[in-house]
Amino acid sequence: MNFSGGIHPKENKITQHYRIGILQIPQFVYLHLSQHTGKPSIPIVKTGDYVLRGQKIAQPDGLVSASLHSPVSGKVVEIKEVLHPVLCKKFPAIVIESDGHNKTIDFSTKYKEYFRFSAEELVNRIKDLGIVGLGGAMFPSHVKLSPPRDKIIDYVIANGCECEPYLTCDDRVMQENSLELVEGLRIVMHILNALKGIIVVEDNKMQAYQKLKEKVSTIPNIEIKLVKTKYPQGAEKQLIKKVLNKEVPSGGLPMDVGVVLHNVATFVAIYNAIVKGIPLIERVLTISGDIDRKGNFLLPIGMMLKDIVKMLNIDVNNIKKIIFGGPMMGIAQESLETPIIKGTSGILFFSDYKIEQEYNQCIRCAKCVEVCPMKLMPNFLSLYIEYKKWDKVNIYSPFDCIECGCCSYVCVAKRPIVAQIKYAKSIIKK
Ligand code: SF4
Ligand code: SF4
Repeated sequence: MNFSGGIHPKENKITQHYRIGILQIPQFVYLHLSQHTGKPSIPIVKTGDYVLRGQKIAQPDGLVSASLHSPVSGKVVEIKEVLHPVLCKKFPAIVIESDGHNKTIDFSTKYKEYFRFSAEELVNRIKDLGIVGLGGAMFPSHVKLSPPRDKIIDYVIANGCECEPYLTCDDRVMQENSLELVEGLRIVMHILNALKGIIVVEDNKMQAYQKLKEKVSTIPNIEIKLVKTKYPQGAEKQLIKKVLNKEVPSGGLPMDVGVVLHNVATFVAIYNAIVKGIPLIERVLTISGDIDRKGNFLLPIGMMLKDIVKMLNIDVNNIKKIIFGGPMMGIAQESLETPIIKGTSGILFFSDYKIEQEYNQCIRCAKCVEVCPMKLMPNFLSLYIEYKKWDKVNIYSPFDCIECGCCSYVCVAKRPIVAQIKYAKSIIKK
């Protein structure tokens, strides 16, 4: 069953056939204490401490929080405020100077035969190794894997849609880490005692689809589902509607309809944590746009944008806009002194980006209403937000907006509808 609305922006999956590469280890990494949904982590190291690659450097503050580990061996040089790519302001980060040796902690683990362990033991391990959702939201995985007792989980969905233009890191992960993905899915199904696993792939990633189909051919309770490409299919509610024809209620969660859903790369991270004992210290991201050295790269968490620019020889004088994430939902960065975090799925460089300063009156064409996947009225939201009629804004459910950007994309009057809704949410929350 298709979800309503949505658009078909130009895909620009230029790096789809680029194998995952690596870059040299940077001299410094900057590890934000807030790179997950929830409370910032609490540092357990201090300036001057020597740390190994994979060593825990910060612990969670409460249930909805996450652990943090060093992606390099070296010395903690300071804990200072550094620009945050999502919060767009300075925030505390642990700065580590690499000694260039990449000396690791002992990754050996007793959890290899995961089916011998209880859900609680495995969830604690996932929490301890700092796994969060890698699709962008960075929700701590241990929380999603601990539904209340009255919530029965029937389905676990691996989201391989990657519907944002340009981004191809999930596609490459599905092709190059298909075994880890399928095993990660089985681990999660074991934890949740789920009946069925479904890996969903859009039909512009046929190589990934074929690879995964082969991998699960002998596993009866895992299915690969091929769906027609459409934006924003990767959004949780839209994907559940598409695959299972279930509606997640307004303000509700996938677990309310018996589903737990993770991005494909998150399952690989869960596999690495449980079977290999490796914490979340690096991730695959796409680097693309108007630059020569594009690709998909496995980079250490905390690598500074300026180091990536230098290593890839990118001439930023020709670049007008840099976005972390995809062009539809990503966040424009104002400084090269910004590190990547666990949720950074891509870095896009654009040279011909035009900033729209002016916008026009709504012509009531209703195009934004047609494409809104949440069945909202973006035209009225935009209008009432412009005139600061907050009581009226509330009537049109701004908090159901998933900030997909479809409305702004089609608006002929070039109204900045998503930016207006984000602003309204912050005002109403206050
Ligand atoms: S109102 Fe929100 S959910 Fe609807 S199209 Fe616009 S950004 Fe997407
Ligand atoms: S698309 Fe733009 S012009 Fe058309 S109804 Fe929506 S806000 Fe108005």
